[in-house]
Amino acid sequence: MSISRTVNISCPSCGTQQDVRLYDAVNVNTDPELKDALMQNQLNRIQCVDCELSFRVDKPVLYNDPKLKMLIHWVPESAEMDREAILAEFEQSLDQMNEMMPEDEKVPNVRLVMSRVELVELIFLLEAGLNQRVVEYVKYSIYTRNLEKIDPHQFRLLLNVEDSTDEEFCFVMQDVQSQELGQLLRYGRAAYDSMVELYKENADEFTDMFPGPYISARDLLLEEAEYES
Ligand SMILES: [Zn+2]
Repeated sequence: MSISRTVNISCPSCGTQQDVRLYDAVNVNTDPELKDALMQNQLNRIQCVDCELSFRVDKPVLYNDPKLKMLIHWVPESAEMDREAILAEFEQSLDQMNEMMPEDEKVPNVRLVMSRVELVELIFLLEAGLNQRVVEYVKYSIYTRNLEKIDPHQFRLLLNVEDSTDEEFCFVMQDVQSQELGQLLRYGRAAYDSMVELYKENADEFTDMFPGPYISARDLLLEEAEYES
């Protein structure tokens, strides 16, 4: 089941108030049209009744596709709430959930993302049966080998599953500020496959690097840069 509520909001341009329906949780099994809306950047998008401005209301959304056996929580980064604050709050609520669960049950698998592009990327990645930690490990090595060209402060690396082939993964650089997509980078699939084998033999190295629920090479690099400075 998806969860929505009616909220009174003001248009950021002309200030006109209106009651709108916003989604807190999306179940793509019962409401597949909400997944389409998310993919087309229409989820929680409003059109002002007065000036007709179209704007997206960024708020936390829980994405649930029961087939993926994974809940993805999209908590948008904002001026009021930065990466660190989101992570701290998320860890805390996970701890609380763990405490509330009966002893023999575990909290369902949950992932955290902080932007819509990360959410869309992760959905494609999980649907394609890829290993998110290994993919982020690949990104980490691409970043570290090209630090001058791909500064993690400025660029996000996104895996484009749709344009990837059996031979090559296709990554695209995205400017974090302008959201503009830039250069494409190709990465041999064979190298990924052999890393998946390593993961199967010994996942510790990968889980130590990305303990989750926010699995992000860029985030790790930013943390490392902060630590060094
Ligand atoms: Zn307006």
